[in-house]
Amino acid sequence: MRRGIAVSPGVAVGTAYCIHTILVDPERSRLEAEDVAAELDAYQSAREKTIADLRAMQSKVERQLGHQEAAIFAVHEAILRDRDFTQKVQTWIVEERFTAAASLQRLLEHYSYLFAHTHDSYLRERLNDVRDVIQRLSAHLNAQTVPRMPSLSGPLILVADEFLPSHAVAIGTTDVRGIVTQTGSRTSHAAIIARGRGIPAVSGVSGILKHVKTGDTIIVDGREGQVIVNPDAEVKSAFRKLEREFFLLKDQLAANRDQPARTVDGVELELLSNINGVTDAEAAVAMGAAAVGLFRTEYLYLTHPSIPSEEEQFEAYCRIIDASPGRRVTIRTLDIGGDKTVPYFGHHHQEANPFLGWRSIRLSFEHPEFFNTQIRAILRAAAYARQHDGHVKLMFPMITTIEEIHRLRAMMRRVKQRLRRARKPVADVPTGIMIEVPAAAVSIRSMLPLVDFVSIGSNDLIQYLMAADRDNPKVSHLCQPIAPAVLRVLTDVISACKEMDKPVTLCGEMAGQPSSFVLLLGMGLRSFSMSPPLVPSIKDLTRNISVQQAERILEHALKLKTTSQIKRYLTEQLRRISPNIEMLETA
Ligand code: PEP
Ligand code: MG
Repeated sequence: MRRGIAVSPGVAVGTAYCIHTILVDPERSRLEAEDVAAELDAYQSAREKTIADLRAMQSKVERQLGHQEAAIFAVHEAILRDRDFTQKVQTWIVEERFTAAASLQRLLEHYSYLFAHTHDSYLRERLNDVRDVIQRLSAHLNAQTVPRMPSLSGPLILVADEFLPSHAVAIGTTDVRGIVTQTGSRTSHAAIIARGRGIPAVSGVSGILKHVKTGDTIIVDGREGQVIVNPDAEVKSAFRKLEREFFLLKDQLAANRDQPARTVDGVELELLSNINGVTDAEAAVAMGAAAVGLFRTEYLYLTHPSIPSEEEQFEAYCRIIDASPGRRVTIRTLDIGGDKTVPYFGHHHQEANPFLGWRSIRLSFEHPEFFNTQIRAILRAAAYARQHDGHVKLMFPMITTIEEIHRLRAMMRRVKQRLRRARKPVADVPTGIMIEVPAAAVSIRSMLPLVDFVSIGSNDLIQYLMAADRDNPKVSHLCQPIAPAVLRVLTDVISACKEMDKPVTLCGEMAGQPSSFVLLLGMGLRSFSMSPPLVPSIKDLTRNISVQQAERILEHALKLKTTSQIKRYLTEQLRRISPNIEMLETA
């Protein structure tokens, strides 16, 4: 049994399919002088085939999944067209007499070395993209087809060092039931895709590829973050039972999509979705979410090789609005930096503490040309929504001071004036801020009169409150949403909003976790935003609990002094309220 980070809940049993790096020719056999020209030709031809491949993938994925999901292939083409990329390969073929395959291997080592010491997870993800492109090219050199999914039968569990974008596309129709990766965190491709598709997944299981081979039986427990390889018959049958229960439960719960999210004592809740793109927006509707509580626009930028233009952004927002018929869409401006960066904002410099540095709204303020463009695109999309029975809200991330809010209000006024002068349709949109920096939580009462609504970003609020990096497994024991200090701050923020009659939502991961959901309900929160596949289980919990019960549970939890006491107490209480719910929680 091996432990990792639980990144997507549920249990799955299946046949392991190990994705090893398929690079070829490790011994780097040298070429004879007369073979150099043929090798350069072979590289060129593989390069052209790879470009054709990427284009075909892009249009296929665009048709099947949408523009945003397909954008990654344009990024891959840009990597491949990078002059330095091909120049290096050609130079090594000519000057070192390396085979093309060996040159590609060397290129990958070169990039890995460059990226090895970065704490920047955007760059780390881009290394995945470079690796993906190199694998595709190498496979063409070797005349293999790429990416090829196994012809193994039965449900599969993918085991990989990291989950590459092409793997995500390749699993399209394959019966993949679980994902295990050696590296990765909650921001990695694997976590986002697995959560979005409701596939149980465990990341950060170091060395797993040494202990498992394709064809082995493997269990993924995305509740506890554990992986079991070749279990004995008894363990296997116990987990098969859990897996069946998990599927049954998911199906049963998804059937409640049209039921109201109403507590036993008749209090109506708003269950909303956090989305990163159109596919998530569709999943949100399918799972019965009432609206989009958070659209993370950074995914538009992360999959785009340059700053998306106003028109491209406007169209992207309209596609989300179209995919959310009759529903509200809360669009959050760019939240880049910290763990996610894009090359075109000059993020190549290293910051000692990126999460405490130049991220999110701080970066947007320093790029007014880009920031104004994004606000214009959102305001125009809001006008479009009005005409299509939709509704847009605008939200700013990582607000720290009152001055920032004043500055935003002035900016909004200017952008609106300019749009009106240009005779573009512009709608007044409710404007809110995220409460995710402790300073803002403390100043909540002076901030509220200046905004239309707030949304608590508990992922960041917890990491800043506890001074513990949200993606670092070494300190994850501190990043607990039910820690007494966190509960106190949340209680205060929610009370302030209620006293001052300001709408408040919470859009961090804790909104979709049964134990913390109950406490938030007890605090008076009535609007929760979560990953689409979590909506049905939280709705089920809603329909089995009363607000009074939640208030009593909170009251008792606030008297307890430690996180582990609170955790034990909540587990006991939840088991009584809804025994099934444990299945759908990640540890
Ligand atoms: C949060 O911080 O809780 C949040 C919802 O935003 P993100 O996870 O995108 O930082
Ligand atoms: Mg945040």
